[in-house]
Amino acid sequence: MAIVEPIPSNSPDEPRRLRLRSVVDLEEIGEIEVQPASEVRAALERARKAQPAWAALSVEKRAGYLKGVLKILLDRQEDVIETVIRETGKTRSEAITMEVFASADALSYYSKRAAKLLAPKPRSLHGVMRFMKKVTIHQVPLGVVGIITPWNGPFILSLNPTAQALVAGNAVLLKPSEVTPFSAQLFAEMFREAGLPEGVLQVLVGDGETGAALCESGVDKISFTGSVETGRKVGESCARQLIPCTLELGGKDPMIVCTDADIESAAAGALAGAYMNTGQYCCGTERVYVVDSVADAFIEEVVKRASKLRQGDKGESDVGPIFWPRQMEIIETHMADAIEKGAVVRVGGRRNPDLEGLYFEPTVLTDVNHDMQIMVDETFGPILPIMRVADEDEALRLANDTRYGLGATVWSNDEFKATSIAKQLESGSVCINDMTVTYGVIEAPFGGRKSSGVGQVNGDNGILGYCYQLPVIVDRWKGKNSRDFYPYGRKKDEGVQKAARFLFGTSLGRWLS
Ligand code: NAD
Repeated sequence: MAIVEPIPSNSPDEPRRLRLRSVVDLEEIGEIEVQPASEVRAALERARKAQPAWAALSVEKRAGYLKGVLKILLDRQEDVIETVIRETGKTRSEAITMEVFASADALSYYSKRAAKLLAPKPRSLHGVMRFMKKVTIHQVPLGVVGIITPWNGPFILSLNPTAQALVAGNAVLLKPSEVTPFSAQLFAEMFREAGLPEGVLQVLVGDGETGAALCESGVDKISFTGSVETGRKVGESCARQLIPCTLELGGKDPMIVCTDADIESAAAGALAGAYMNTGQYCCGTERVYVVDSVADAFIEEVVKRASKLRQGDKGESDVGPIFWPRQMEIIETHMADAIEKGAVVRVGGRRNPDLEGLYFEPTVLTDVNHDMQIMVDETFGPILPIMRVADEDEALRLANDTRYGLGATVWSNDEFKATSIAKQLESGSVCINDMTVTYGVIEAPFGGRKSSGVGQVNGDNGILGYCYQLPVIVDRWKGKNSRDFYPYGRKKDEGVQKAARFLFGTSLGRWLS
C-alpha cells in the first residue's frame, strides 16, 4: 500500500486530490481525485439504468464474462503483479499466490458453478401441505451493490466479491482503498476488455468520504471489508437505511500448539501465518499459545527459522514492507508497550536499518501476556508473540479472551482432539495443522464472530448473499380452496382443532406431518 498525502488545492471548489508514494523506495507512483457524493450518485444512476438488462441475461451468459476476464487475467498476469507490487510493495511470490492465483481460482469457481447455484430450486413441502401447494425458491439479484475494500489484498479482495455480485445479476459500484486504487482500476479495465456492458461495474476512487457517500447513496447492499472502526460506521448507516450488509473486519487470530503437535510443521506454520503479506493479513497468526511441555522445542524451531528469513527491496525476499505509515505506527506502539511490560525479543524487533522504505524486521517475542497490546489488539505486522501455557485448556481460555473472532489455528496430531478444541473456539473459522487459509478455500463460508464481522462471504452463502431468495408458492388447486376461506364458523374451527390434535398429537399424525 502506498503512502498517501493530500495535495494542497488552490480553491475549495476543486476536488480533493491525493498523491501516492511507494512504501519501497518512497517514490511517487500516481495520484487520485477523491470522488464526491455527487459523482457517487451519478454512478448509481448509471448502474440503475444498466442493471435490468444485465439481470435479464442468463446466468450462463453472465458467467461467460467472468470466463473472459479469467482469460485476460491469465494473459496479463505480469500487469497485475506489477500493479500490486507498485502499490503495496508486497513480495512477488505473495502477489502471485494471494492476488493472481486466488483471483483466477475465484473467477473459475464462480463461472463454473453459478448457473447451478442460482437456478430456481423447487422445495418439497411437509405434511398435508404438499398436496395443496408447491414452492420454488428463485434467486433474484438485489440490484446495485456497493463494495468497499481495504488495502492488504487490493486485487483479490475487490475482485472476489465483485465477481460474485456480478454473476448473480447485480450492478456493482466498487470503492477500493485510497492507498491501493490501481489494482481495482486494472481489473475494471479487464472487465471492459471482456465486453462487460457500460455501467454494470464502476470503480469509485477516494477515501472515507467516497466510502461514506457510497453507503448513503441508495445502493441495495453494502459488502464491506476493512477495520472494525469503519465497519461499525458502515453497519450503522446500513441499519438506518434498512439495507443488508456484510462486514468482514479485523482479527487477532490465535494459534494453539498442543502437546502432540508436529513441532517442525507448527513452527513453519507459525512463520507463514505471522509473516505472510508482512503480517498484514486479516486472518494472519497474531498470537501463539504453546503448551509448556513442548514450548522450548517450538520456540527454538521458530527462532531458527525466523532468523533465516530474507527482507529486502531488491531480488528475492521473504518478508516485504509495511504497506503504509499508519500501520508502522501501530506496530511500533505495540512493540514498545510489550517490551516495557517485559516481553523478550528473540528475533528482529525493530525497523530494518538497512532499508529505506517501511520495513519492520520479522520479529519473534516471548514472555508476553494479555496485559500487553500485542496480545489483545490487532497489530497487522510481522510480529509473532509466543505465550507459554500450562495445558490446552488454558490455551483455549486465552484464545477466546478477545473481542475478535475471525480465524484460529490448532496444531495437533490428534484430529479428534483438535476438532473438539476448534468447536470451542469463538472463531469465524478454524484451520487444523494449517495456517489460516479459509479465505482461499472458496467453498468455506468466510466471516467473523464478535467484533470481527457480521455475515459470511464466499461459497454458496456468499453468492446467494447477493440475491434475494424469493419463494414463489403455487396453489395446486388453482385457487379453488380460497372459495372456502369465508365464512368462519364453529364447525370449521372444530375441524381444524381436530386436525391439529391428530397431526401433532398422535404418532401416525406426526409421521404424516
Ligand atoms: P479501513 O476500515 O480503514 O478502510 C477500509 C475501506 O473503507 C477503505 O476503502 C476506506 O477508504 C473505506 N472507508 C473509510 N472510512 C469510511 C466510511 N466512513 N464509510 C465507508 N467507507 C469508509 O480498513 P483498512 O485499513 O483499509 O484495512 C485493514 C483492516 O481490514 C484490518 O483491520 C484488517 O483486519 C481488515 N481486513 C479484514 C478482512 C476480512 O475479510 N475480515 C480482509 C482484509 C482486511
